[in-house]
Amino acid sequence: MAPPPEPRSNQRIKFDQLFINNEFVNSVSGETYTSVNPSTEKLLAVLQQANEVDVDKAVKVARDAFEVGSPWRSLTDSARGLLLNKLADLIEENVNEIANLESLDNGKPFIQSYGQTLEAIKFVRYFAGCTDKIHGKTISSDGGVLVYTTKEPVGVVGIIIPWNYPIVLLSFKLSMALAAGCTVVVKPAEQTTLNALFLGHLIKEAGFPPGVVNILSCSGPAVGIALTHHKDVDKISFTGSTMVGKLVLEAAAKSNLKKVTLELGGKSPAVVFNDADLDLALKYISQSVFVTAGQTCFAPTRLYVQSGIYDKFVQKFIEIASKIKVGGPFEADVFQGPQIDSVFLERVLSYIEIGKKEGAKCVLGGKRHGSVGYFIEPTVFTEVTDDMTITKDEIFGPVEIIFKFDTLDEVIRRANNNKYGLAAGVFTENLNTAVQFSKAIQAGTVWVNQWANLSPQTPFSGHKMSGMGTELGIDSLDGLMNTKVTNIRLSSDE
Ligand code: NAD
Repeated sequence: MAPPPEPRSNQRIKFDQLFINNEFVNSVSGETYTSVNPSTEKLLAVLQQANEVDVDKAVKVARDAFEVGSPWRSLTDSARGLLLNKLADLIEENVNEIANLESLDNGKPFIQSYGQTLEAIKFVRYFAGCTDKIHGKTISSDGGVLVYTTKEPVGVVGIIIPWNYPIVLLSFKLSMALAAGCTVVVKPAEQTTLNALFLGHLIKEAGFPPGVVNILSCSGPAVGIALTHHKDVDKISFTGSTMVGKLVLEAAAKSNLKKVTLELGGKSPAVVFNDADLDLALKYISQSVFVTAGQTCFAPTRLYVQSGIYDKFVQKFIEIASKIKVGGPFEADVFQGPQIDSVFLERVLSYIEIGKKEGAKCVLGGKRHGSVGYFIEPTVFTEVTDDMTITKDEIFGPVEIIFKFDTLDEVIRRANNNKYGLAAGVFTENLNTAVQFSKAIQAGTVWVNQWANLSPQTPFSGHKMSGMGTELGIDSLDGLMNTKVTNIRLSSDE
């Protein structure tokens, strides 16, 4: 049972070096960079700046750890599961410290960081339970031949993650790769590295052999570029922007045709019909669009409201959004924290300006909140048209844009008119409408009368330019394994 939450804004930073071969070490160059607290703009940590030489070092030990006969490859499937369960136990024992680090690094309210750390434990335990449930097939064949398939871990996996849900993303990507029997080199986002390094310490304490997990901090793209181009990396598990996802795919093709899973950007439509439970729709949509300051890949950032309830719904939505408390992660009752850094702050503010210039009506917010910390007011636009920049692009900030629609066919056509296809949601009491919408919408996940229901056992993937490959659920382990076919001649009848 997890201990009660204990918010601490003065959490000590214990791990600030690279984690290679189960040791914390300085970068080969000796260079460092600084990490800033997005709520205070104050220095949070001085971290090691890895480069391609450190990547080579980490890939080499990960490769050694993957060799057949190594301590890692010699473990039974269930022993691998026990190690992952031990890691989950240790995350649970350190839940407060991890949640505090998450809030300091990312700025999200402590209670949300705490909840996400509990989710991380569930992800690790789920994949711990998958290690001994990986099966091949026996295939019927003509004649005296036995044909069967086995699943084998793909090899060294480069895990590259963004900064918006650091502990959640790392926990499932890491535990998926380890459950499949791979070894890994992790590249956390430069803005949120602290919990990745903290997990390195727990990996060692759990008893994972040296080289199985390696973690490299780096400001800028150098480590990501080196990993994706590396000829001895067999797979990249990437979550981030569509722009960088394309570069990852290109690097994989140019280097060694490594396998790639891409979880990318989104601009997800939420559709509310006249017959919907309005309070339910208001709750889910307002929370999901403003949580993590709008920096959620599957946030419902295009809101379509049917004409019969449009005025009433929009008025209530604005009322709810105007009451959202914005502030630092350790302040009471805060729901929305800061943008991750000054670059994203400026980027979101510039999208708001573009929206105004192109003729959308800003009916709430639209400005920076306060002068210290990268906060932006919850912002709502109406009178938005389908061809505006704010309709097409992922803004990645606390900005909702609202459209009016009349019919199901119309809203499906307009909702599909976007390059992304990550998630979508529909609010209606009519099962037929919900099923028709779900069938026609181009998205990897559809939520009906809810939003953001994710679990370790539920597959998640992006359609169109939102990604490639699937994560979560036991079947997604296929993306981390090769299938081998063995043919055995059983009788000699020639
Ligand atoms: P980003 O693409 O800029 O960076 C992601 C990671 O890639 C970082 O660790 C970064 O250092 C690294 N990177 C940068 N350049 C690289 C290169 N050339 N080669 C290899 N790696 C490189 O994304 P971000 O700004 O950190 O995160 C926000 C984006 O992530 C949004 O678009 C959001 O929708 C997306 N996201 C998607 C999901 C999903 O599941 N689909 C989940 C979370 C976030």
